[in-house]
Amino acid sequence: MGAKELDEVRSNMARAATRFDGAEREAPQLIAVSKTYGAEEILPILEAGQRDFGENRVQEAQSKWPTLREQFPDLTLHLIGPLQTNKTKEAVALFDVIHSLDREKLARYLKKEMEALGKSIPLFVQVNIGEEEQKSGIAPDQTIEFVRYCQQDLGLDIQGLMAIPPVGEPPAPFFARLVELGKDAGLAKFSMGMSADYETAIEMGASYVRVGSAIFGARDYT
Ligand SMILES: *Cc1c(COP(=O)(O)O)cnc(C)c1O
Repeated sequence: MGAKELDEVRSNMARAATRFDGAEREAPQLIAVSKTYGAEEILPILEAGQRDFGENRVQEAQSKWPTLREQFPDLTLHLIGPLQTNKTKEAVALFDVIHSLDREKLARYLKKEMEALGKSIPLFVQVNIGEEEQKSGIAPDQTIEFVRYCQQDLGLDIQGLMAIPPVGEPPAPFFARLVELGKDAGLAKFSMGMSADYETAIEMGASYVRVGSAIFGARDYT
């Protein structure tokens, strides 16, 4: 797994983009999700030209990315997993984009740490688009109000919305719902689509797809 799979994903993305029939938009970007993978698997992907990477844990990312960044200073690191408020400072120091802003307390902590570091990080608001009990994310019916709070009260740079549709259901209606919600909130960027459904997500307007196993192979959590 590696560079060949990366090429395949990229050409699938380009083909899917031609099937999008909405308004003009920038080409969707690929985030290679490298969680659980080490530098030896990540390096060939960097060498193949990929520069956007996603990690879901602050500590794991801290253990591998500072070294890789010395070699590839132009890479962009995306936090795509849940963020604890006690890790906000480390997250702000390490990541370039955060896709998992999902509550007011976290918004306030991010604001404080970004001010302290003199850094403004683009953020995506994570929406619990399937309204699943166990899943993180803002409830769809509270999203517009939350986005407004982040933008107007805190002055945060909210780029768009992020979601993970429920497992085992066709994802298209959930992607459509996220796009609708974003438009109502005045946002035009969407972080949606993973290995199983990134082509569908692009057809429906994704700006960023987050693809792990289709590039790196199945993950081993043991
Ligand atoms: C792991 C993960 C992905 C990538 O999942 P794959 O199915 O391996 O492509 C995407 N988004 C989030 C939030 C993840 O945690």
